[in-house]
Amino acid sequence: MNFTKILAKWYDKNKRELPWRRTKDPYRIWVSEIILQQTRIEQGWDYYLRFLEKFPILCALASAEEEDVLKLWQGLGYYSRARNMHATAKEIMNMHQGIFPKTYEEIRKLKGIGDYTAAAISSIAFGIPSPVVDGNVLRLFSRFFGIPDPVDTQKGKTAVLEKAKELISPQHPGDFNQAIMEFGALQCKPTPDCKTCPLKPGCVAFQQNRIAEFPVKSKKQRQRTRYFHYLFITVDKGKNRSVFLKKRTGNDIWKNLFDFPLIETGKAISHKKLILSKEWNDLFSGKNVVLVKESKRYRHILSHQIIVAKFYQLKISPFSGLPFQKVALKEILKYPVPRLIEKYLEEVRNLF
Ligand code: SF4
Repeated sequence: MNFTKILAKWYDKNKRELPWRRTKDPYRIWVSEIILQQTRIEQGWDYYLRFLEKFPILCALASAEEEDVLKLWQGLGYYSRARNMHATAKEIMNMHQGIFPKTYEEIRKLKGIGDYTAAAISSIAFGIPSPVVDGNVLRLFSRFFGIPDPVDTQKGKTAVLEKAKELISPQHPGDFNQAIMEFGALQCKPTPDCKTCPLKPGCVAFQQNRIAEFPVKSKKQRQRTRYFHYLFITVDKGKNRSVFLKKRTGNDIWKNLFDFPLIETGKAISHKKLILSKEWNDLFSGKNVVLVKESKRYRHILSHQIIVAKFYQLKISPFSGLPFQKVALKEILKYPVPRLIEKYLEEVRNLF
């Protein structure tokens, strides 16, 4: 059977009409590929359109403020993607005279662009036969070829990549790449639709009745649980009511986004225990702190971490300064914040 031909026919008939499928502009393809990493298409669609409305061309993105880029990205998660895109847009302006590089190797060298994205951009925009390997492709190839190596290891990924290199259409590499991803997303799904699958005559997993065994995975990475105690400290009243924000720095999650002053503990503890902690005393020693309200417990799931968070609304009087940024509550929505903070702000919407 001819895998590539069958796939092309299936793609022609079944592909979804998506806005980024109507372009060969490398900038737009890049934006769509970065947005769609770790994001469902339905959610990514809106972000893609809004992003291009605000930054329709590369130089618009390059000259934007990072906070504006992050604000537009708010809710998508994995914020390093937005920071890297912004840095890369500047780099293309400075090092490539504003013209998107045209070879796989040059594209791959750009910050935040890995093998997958470089392959997608170079094949779709420039017709270079570089195969993409994303989660959908790993699942499809692992099943179709009965690949015994775990797909979350380098060995498994290389085995899939080699097969894709053999099969990619030299005439239409961009369509081939989009087709294998679309096939994985719509037909060879986690629960595959084998009954109607045109590839089943050649599919090892199907023919050997071993669908449940593929894709092979190595041991699951453990998720780490972290306990965040956010301090929602309000000062002043009425229109002047303000809170304290803190820009996140360092190599932790949500870099360069804003959240509230935070005490992190190794396990869940009560408010009574929290106020006995060294961190609490370092912040509030000698101050009159009143707990106005304790929020419900939030469970926020990231790829490798679970954040268990509580928010403590506090009043301090007399106020004598804290090492954070004081922001008028009515201005707070202008700041880029993680989705977890956004959810809490929805809960206290009545305050501003
Ligand atoms: S037969 Fe089933 S497992 Fe094999 S490629 Fe088709 S959908 Fe995937």
